Amino acid sequence: MTQTKFDSKTISILEDKIQLIKTEKGAIYLVGPIQLPVNLYDKTVVFHWYCWLNCDEVTENFENIIHKLSSINLAEFQQSSVLAYGNFAYSEDAIIRMHSICHTGDIFGSKRCDCGYQLKQSMKKVVEHGNGAIFYLANHEGRGIGLFSKAMAYILQENGYDTVEANQALGFVDDSRNYNDAIHVLKALRSKPVTLITNNPKKLEALKKSGLPVSGREPLWGDVSEYNEKYLETKINRSGHMKEGDECCND
Ligand SMILES: [Zn+2]
Repeated sequence: MTQTKFDSKTISILEDKIQLIKTEKGAIYLVGPIQLPVNLYDKTVVFHWYCWLNCDEVTENFENIIHKLSSINLAEFQQSSVLAYGNFAYSEDAIIRMHSICHTGDIFGSKRCDCGYQLKQSMKKVVEHGNGAIFYLANHEGRGIGLFSKAMAYILQENGYDTVEANQALGFVDDSRNYNDAIHVLKALRSKPVTLITNNPKKLEALKKSGLPVSGREPLWGDVSEYNEKYLETKINRSGHMKEGDECCND
């Protein structure tokens, strides 16, 4: 394949916006910030959007990286995002949300779960707080089992299985999500303490174990309907989520 020759202007514009984050396995390349005006409950709010990608090649030669990335078909894979708001790097008390991608809930507004609601509410909380970030985690579909498997799990649920039973019947552990990459990116963007928007104690533990100064947790409840009542109950009873009132919820 012939190598595209990027002109020096293209390279100099892009290399200022790409950050190398070294990890145990290789590197994460973080691109951004990019101004992203978003329609949030009928108001236009400007977020700072970043996107990241894992790569085994560790180099500060961004021309090589840009070339490598433009030659692989990235549309075949999902990439993760960060939507930051306000002075995220230096504010004293930022709030963050680690949001697992949910194709059905976030995009279609499915009422079988409460993901779409939680995503929008988290964005609203961050804006109201004045600064913070939403980490949108692309390899977390169906708690890490992927979209096709999630569809099969839904079929089992339509036939009497609960969320945990359905995943186990398909040979998956209940929750196979990993937050290591997101934590690397968070550390690159900010070193001061964060408050985590979650009802899930496991997320709080993952962040604490990474050595991040977590100053607290903020619960996020709501949007209970006849379609997700059973799912939310299972999260509380089977997956260790905290209950509304005795603290928290279901992500
Ligand atoms: Zn969902």
